[in-house]
Amino acid sequence: MRHVDTLIFAAWIIPVEPEGVVYEQHALAINDGKIVAIVPSNEAVAQFSARITHRLSTHVLIPGLINSHTHAAMSLLRGYADDLALMDWLHKRIWPAEKAWVRAKFVEDGTRLAIAEMLLGGVTCFNDMYFYPDVAGRVADEAGMRASVGLILIDFPSAWANDADAYLAKAEQVHAQFHHHPLIRTALAPHAPYSVSDQPLEKAVALAEHLDLRIHMHVHETADEIAQGHARDGYRPLARLDLLGALSERLMAVHMTQVDDDEIALLAERGVHVVHCPESNMKLASGLCPVHKLLQAGVNVALGTDGAASNDDLDMLGEMRSAALLAKVVSNDARAVPAHVALRMATLNGAKALGLDDITGSLRPGKEADIVAVDMGLLETQPVYNPLSHLIYVASREHVSDVWVSGRQLVKGRALTSLNVRDIRTKVMEWRQNILSTPLTSVPDEAQNSDV
Ligand SMILES: [Zn+2]
Repeated sequence: MRHVDTLIFAAWIIPVEPEGVVYEQHALAINDGKIVAIVPSNEAVAQFSARITHRLSTHVLIPGLINSHTHAAMSLLRGYADDLALMDWLHKRIWPAEKAWVRAKFVEDGTRLAIAEMLLGGVTCFNDMYFYPDVAGRVADEAGMRASVGLILIDFPSAWANDADAYLAKAEQVHAQFHHHPLIRTALAPHAPYSVSDQPLEKAVALAEHLDLRIHMHVHETADEIAQGHARDGYRPLARLDLLGALSERLMAVHMTQVDDDEIALLAERGVHVVHCPESNMKLASGLCPVHKLLQAGVNVALGTDGAASNDDLDMLGEMRSAALLAKVVSNDARAVPAHVALRMATLNGAKALGLDDITGSLRPGKEADIVAVDMGLLETQPVYNPLSHLIYVASREHVSDVWVSGRQLVKGRALTSLNVRDIRTKVMEWRQNILSTPLTSVPDEAQNSDV
């Protein structure tokens, strides 16, 4: 009999690899933070003795969800600006607020709020893009959460850096700070084609190559962006990124609501990853990403919530449902993005996009134990014919009961184990008071922080 740290018995286990498989009455063994085995429950009793045993008789175990695009600290601006067109939302509300408030402390408190929300909703890893990535990385580390922090680059000065060279110098510093960290990775994060000039973008691509990092960037978010890029350069932003050497398997292109058939073929050929953010795209009326076509062309499509100021939650269970439903409408095909594909987009595809698929994204022996238990035993989820389908079309994040990251239990019976909810709440209330008490006037485009 082998001794392990943790043994979890569950009604169902959905490993994501192999795809579409659902194991019934199985147990998952964890040792030293890694998945050791998934075996039928009756065999687990004979094979393993464990220090901690969980019996989750009405639950389904899935890989930890990966939020492949967010701006965690913007949680402090949740509900601050709703029902506005993208440019009004940015110019009149978000950019002035960011100019007034975004400092290290804002990022610390906002990121901690976001991490608490994400963990409670079954997210075990997030790909962030914001100012003060050093602070976001530190807060994620303190919470025990897996993250990729974006080394932000933008043409405009901010409290974080004054010019492109300063942004890039800080990028190298923050990368060095987290190099070899077990949970925190870094990625170059040039904000968008319209907000980063050719020269800094070329430098960022070279730096990503040199440090072997991903490039996390908003690309083709709206039709306006394409029209303006075309008017300025004579070609579309994606073509400009190609000329600058950015189209490779390093690139995580976020949004891609405007993409023609030639561009889809190009993305597939170069191995570019697309991050789909259905709820943000719908809320800002940005456009519709042709997810079904991209997947059929062989493009790896991951899933993200975007920031809480344009969603307005960081709920990846909700995002999976939105992705599945929207894909059916966009492609006029009810078979588009079936449940198992929606789950893969929110797990393994995200891990692939981040270059973490040998570590997380599926429940496979040898991988880190990033695991989520979802309770299907409540009345509103009855009856359960197919737990995989239920996960997408019936369950909500409120049904997430337990969460492990690298074998450490961070959510236990819906309670956070590594974060103090009362402290977070107090700080958030203080920010709300501060932000409400400061009137903002709209400011011109130039000289602004920007983040969407
Ligand atoms: Zn974004």
